[in-house]
Amino acid sequence: MVQDCIFCKIVRGEIPARKVYEDDDVLAFHDINPITPMHFMLIPKRHIASLAEATADDAGVLGRIMVLAGKLAREQGSPYGFRTIVNTGRIGRQDVMHVHVHVLGGPNQLGPMIPRG
Ligand code: 5GP
Ligand code: ZN
Repeated sequence: MVQDCIFCKIVRGEIPARKVYEDDDVLAFHDINPITPMHFMLIPKRHIASLAEATADDAGVLGRIMVLAGKLAREQGSPYGFRTIVNTGRIGRQDVMHVHVHVLGGPNQLGPMIPRG
C-alpha cells in the first residue's frame, strides 16, 4: 500500500528525513543507517515499487534521478566518483519497496562492489 510505504511517508512529510534535494518529481535524502561517509538515496516521489515494476512511463523520472546523482554526489562530499546501487526484489535484497538509488561515496575509495567468493 502506498499509504504504508515508508518512503511515500517521507515524501508526504509524515516521517522526517534529512533532505539533500527536492523538486516536483524527485526527492533525495540521507540514509538513516549510512554504510559509507556519504550515503544518500534518490527516489521518485511517485510510488514505483521497484525497478522490476518500472515501465516506460517511469523512464523520464528515473533518467532524471541518474543525471542528478553526479551533481549531488559532488555537492555532498564525493567529488572524485561514487557508487550507485539499486537493490531490486528478493534476489537483490530490497528492503523498502519504493524504488531508490543509493549513492555511496566519500573521501576514500570504496571496497569491492560485492565481495567475491
Ligand atoms: P534497500 O535495502 O531497500 O536497498 O535499502 C533501504 C534503505 O533505506 C536502507 O539503507 C535503510 O537504512 C534506509 N531506510 C530505511 N528506513 C529509513 C527511514 O525511515 N529513513 C531513512 N532516511 N532511511 C531509511
Ligand atoms: Zn512509496
